[in-house]
Amino acid sequence: DAKNSGKSNYKFFNQKMTDKLKEKIQIETTLREAIKKEELKLLYQPQVCGLTGKVVGFEALLRLKFHPISPAIFIPVAEEAGIIIDMGRWVTKEVIKQIAVWKEKGINTKPVAINFSAKQLNDFKYIDFLEDLLKKNNVTPKDIEIEITESIFLENKQETMIFLNNLKALGIKIALDDFGTGYSSLSYLTFLPVDKIKLDKSLNDKFLQLENIAVMESIISLAHSLNLKVVAEGIEDIEQHERLKLVKCDYIQGYLFSKPLEVEEAENIHDYRFLL
Ligand code: C2E
Ligand code: MG
Ligand code: MG
Ligand code: MG
Repeated sequence: DAKNSGKSNYKFFNQKMTDKLKEKIQIETTLREAIKKEELKLLYQPQVCGLTGKVVGFEALLRLKFHPISPAIFIPVAEEAGIIIDMGRWVTKEVIKQIAVWKEKGINTKPVAINFSAKQLNDFKYIDFLEDLLKKNNVTPKDIEIEITESIFLENKQETMIFLNNLKALGIKIALDDFGTGYSSLSYLTFLPVDKIKLDKSLNDKFLQLENIAVMESIISLAHSLNLKVVAEGIEDIEQHERLKLVKCDYIQGYLFSKPLEVEEAENIHDYRFLL
């Protein structure tokens, strides 16, 4: 009977694969439609100076207007289907338009970080597109920041370096996102033209514990010696914040201060001194 159960296992496995595939196709369809109808929106999560509580910038985070699906799920699907190119352009344009509106109203002149997927390297005209948008909207390169992850180096290394250097030449700051989740993080820092590293939540959850705090201190001090600013992501409690102050982390992004906010909420928040 082992033969029979083997067969049904196979069938079960097959069914699971089919379900996964169906789900992916469904997400793809949803994404294409959302882009076509412009049913996307951005939330803005504050980045806060750990010492003063001042908001120093925001990260733009993509959402679908009418689907609660997380970008952690839909971004990989968009990447695989090539949809990320259009999506990335929409995000870039929306952020720059928003900054222009804020500047006009004089309410927020803090930089906004845009997540850039490794797959967007296939968008050969992205930099031209970006430069053009900045000019047309009277937004300066200092008003935005680009977040990349190490995975961008799994693509063409030479192309990546050219891309990053072109961004730098424009005067755009680059942040290395999800730091501590890859393999060669520390060595990358010595040659990457980045300005900032963003310590991933998983790293913070582990190395802000008392028995590991020396490691955190070393990472931050190494970053500083390379002239990099450090942002800690996913900070949810006061104790983590206290420890981050001790190890001289520059900025904090996390639910402790704020979840990602709607535009109208983001434009009214300037500091979190009341939480210090
Ligand atoms: P990420 O760039 O590392 O963004 C940080 C994520 O951590 C966000 O999730 C944010 O909401 C979440 N977060 C912030 N503080 C906390 C906290 O205290 N606790 C916890 N548990 N989570 C926190 P989100 O918005 O769901 O985005 C997930 C990922 O999707 C992002 O990770 C980024 O990789 C990707 N993503 C989001 N928007 C875009 C986009 O416009 N373009 C691209 N290419 N990727 C995007
Ligand atoms: Mg990010
Ligand atoms: Mg991150
Ligand atoms: Mg991420």
